[in-house]
Amino acid sequence: MRELVDLAIERLREDFPNKSRSWVRRALIRFMKGTVREFGENVWVVRGLPELGDKYPTYVVRFKDGRYYCSCFESNWGLRRRSEICTHIAAVILYRNYKRLDSDVYASVVNIECTDYYLEIPSEFRGKVRIVKSVKVIDAADKLNPRHRVTYVIYSSEPMEVRARLTCDGDVRELSLKLSRTRRYIVELLTRD
Ligand SMILES: [Zn+2]
Repeated sequence: MRELVDLAIERLREDFPNKSRSWVRRALIRFMKGTVREFGENVWVVRGLPELGDKYPTYVVRFKDGRYYCSCFESNWGLRRRSEICTHIAAVILYRNYKRLDSDVYASVVNIECTDYYLEIPSEFRGKVRIVKSVKVIDAADKLNPRHRVTYVIYSSEPMEVRARLTCDGDVRELSLKLSRTRRYIVELLTRD
């Protein structure tokens, strides 16, 4: 799905803001050609693409101690490449971003329009439930007290019912939110600014 790929690329760019467009493009080609295979925990095999200058049929990417390593580091150019993040690794990161965005989550959405707002969940849900929000100013006639459209997404890795207290301009409401199944990228799309 196009939107999912776009988001996966967006995350890659955020993680590596100094990388060139061609670096991103080559990672995307590798990913779209389906060259990345998960081989085990924190090990991936990336099929080589001669058109991208690969000399070997496969490359092995590992994630260890918070870092990625690629078998292309061990080639003649290893010393130069070790300090870089090759596009085999970038393709693996893209693959992982995509898989994460494609995974199931359980979510509920709350939309409000207020000047002052606050959403609170009881402490028993902390650590199990995450809240993300997107805020847009819809009326700034009163510059000191602009009115906002706020979208809260409350989500968890498991289905559950979450109690919440929503405050909107002094109006307090108790909510019971049933988290229902959706995909991770929907949460990202809903809270994108
Ligand atoms: Zn590599």
